[in-house]
Amino acid sequence: MHKINRPACPHPAALEAKNYKHPTNKAVLQEASHGKCMYCETNIGATYPGDVEHIKPKGIAKYKHLEFAWSNLGFVCWRCNNNKSDLYDDSFPFIDPYIDEPTEHFDALCQVLFPKLGDQRAETTIEVIKLNRDDLVTARMDAIYHIKSAAESAMAATSPLLRKARLETLKKLCEPNAQYSFVCRPVVERYLEQLAE
Ligand SMILES: [Zn+2]
Repeated sequence: MHKINRPACPHPAALEAKNYKHPTNKAVLQEASHGKCMYCETNIGATYPGDVEHIKPKGIAKYKHLEFAWSNLGFVCWRCNNNKSDLYDDSFPFIDPYIDEPTEHFDALCQVLFPKLGDQRAETTIEVIKLNRDDLVTARMDAIYHIKSAAESAMAATSPLLRKARLETLKKLCEPNAQYSFVCRPVVERYLEQLAE
């Protein structure tokens, strides 16, 4: 999960007209999360348009009034959307990357996401939305192997300028727009330390 800055709503009239998934508003949510699911950081590609998420579920009566509230909308993949469904608990709300700083709640140990010790909100988020589901763990592992290859390429370069270019490529693999950047960042940082030695 990666911190997302919520942009201003570009088309509030659509929300007032009770359309929470107007393409203009959805596109801005998609752009704000770099095209990634707000929970699992999977790139949502061109073949599947992604879902508009109600952070506080519209299916629960007490949140019904938030169905068209911009602050309650996010951009998600269908897997996370299905897993979360209408589950929500005010006492231990899911970590919300539009509000919370995920690095304060989660740790990444290679391809697996862990809650900080005693952080029940983070653990609830991982368990309910299934943020260590098999396909995600496999996809994160692929991303980490890709990082390893990029680090090896940088190490093999004897031309200083080529090494610099390859280091830049390596750094890009954990930037906010990179898929699974949360688990990738510590791996990239570790390789950069080794390459600096
Ligand atoms: Zn997802």
